Amino acid sequence: MSDASLSSAVSAIRDRQTKIVATLGPASNTEDMIRKLFYAGVDVFRLNFSHGEHADHQARVNMIRKIEEETNRPIAIIADMQGPKLRVGKFKDGKIELTVGQKLRLDLDTTPGDNVRVNLPHPEVINTMTIGSHILLDDGKVRMEIVDKGDGFLIGEIQAGKFLSNNKGFNVPGVILPIAALTPKDRIDLEAALGMGVDWIAQSFVQKPEDVMEAKKLIAGRAALMIKIEKPSALQYLDQMIAQADGVMLARGDLGVEIPPEEVPVVQKKVVRTVRMAGKPIVVATQMLESMIENPAPTRAEANDVATAVFDGTDAVMLSAETAAGQYPLEAVQIMSRICKRVEKDELYRAIIDADHPDARHNDASDALTVAADQVAKDIHAACIVTYTTSGGTALRAVRQRPPVKIVCMTQNTATARRLAVSYGIFSLKITNVTTFGEAVQMAQKALGKENLAQKGERFVMTAGVPFGTPGSTNVLRVAWVE
Ligand code: PGA
Ligand code: MN
Repeated sequence: MSDASLSSAVSAIRDRQTKIVATLGPASNTEDMIRKLFYAGVDVFRLNFSHGEHADHQARVNMIRKIEEETNRPIAIIADMQGPKLRVGKFKDGKIELTVGQKLRLDLDTTPGDNVRVNLPHPEVINTMTIGSHILLDDGKVRMEIVDKGDGFLIGEIQAGKFLSNNKGFNVPGVILPIAALTPKDRIDLEAALGMGVDWIAQSFVQKPEDVMEAKKLIAGRAALMIKIEKPSALQYLDQMIAQADGVMLARGDLGVEIPPEEVPVVQKKVVRTVRMAGKPIVVATQMLESMIENPAPTRAEANDVATAVFDGTDAVMLSAETAAGQYPLEAVQIMSRICKRVEKDELYRAIIDADHPDARHNDASDALTVAADQVAKDIHAACIVTYTTSGGTALRAVRQRPPVKIVCMTQNTATARRLAVSYGIFSLKITNVTTFGEAVQMAQKALGKENLAQKGERFVMTAGVPFGTPGSTNVLRVAWVE
């Protein structure tokens, strides 16, 4: 690989603050394609454990780590757990035709179904559903109301929909099910993913704070935890759950089935803002450039959707089937990157982001210094903000301010550098052998020029917690010149 193409890839990452997450799948399984996606601007790769064998995921991890080594850029890998995705059983003929008003019995019998009955292999659902509640099947294409129930069965009346086929997923909006957010399959997948050295575990269908606590306990610090908001009950406990997680994904695919469409935009605004103010990364996901699964260009509405997420101040935007199974994975990343950059250059965007920046948390010296660093950087037109961090805490404080310049994260910790790849504005530099703040400043003075992050003579603002090695506190602010 030529140095020129490498530097163009790295500069693509450098001139955009919002990060891009791309899901890998059949359309993006080769090392060549993963490398191209990275060069086109992907900061984070997502492995979807709902599909594929562990060996497939391991192969992808190996390819990503190889590219990371070649380019010397930390890349984050998210292993997304399937969670308790609810599905109906199979039909004798593979699918059935539905008529509005007809009844369909859902029971625990695993024999293939027909137009009268079908297996619903989730006793918790059968027990919890009440007469008058609704089941939405196949991403909401089929809707039924529960009109009767008995021991081990439900009777649903079809209100909308034409067909139902084998193993279609279903949602039960508004119902809190007595099921754990980690299934036996998830537990096996989680250990496998951690064994592969992934940086983030994404937990699907969390319903309550205990779900998050359970995942945290199982992960035991071996990766960061990203909870997926895709159930209405998660919205109810949002603050508590954000407090326990390391990051959040707004999983609009399932969420958009569980709540009415008109709720999705306002929920997005609220969740992005709440997570951002909490100082943790937020990823807006699903259907962002959906039509690009089949077309080389997005619709106007899709361009607007990506732009809206950026205007909302998200850390990252995500591609799912567009890069995993679509015909135009590269084009999807390229246009997504262009939309992010265009919005970030917009004056109105900067005005909105600056007006909405969080104040320092009350009586919190670390936060006060970080807010000051952002202000100083703007006042003196600093080339970048440099943070020295081990745990990532100092860098995340800077991210919370959404500065207009890169937040260079100097760290000796590979795991920290990788995890932070999902965060707004972060550009990590892996360093070694620094013990004092003075040494870190000197290292930054040399590195910024060498990495083309700043010109000789330009100023940068640096924050850190000293002495090094006590995570969580930021207590120095320094302005220095690039050598
Ligand atoms: P999924 O999650 O792709 O794993 O379903 C994302 C979503 O539901 O939006
Ligand atoms: Mn989902």
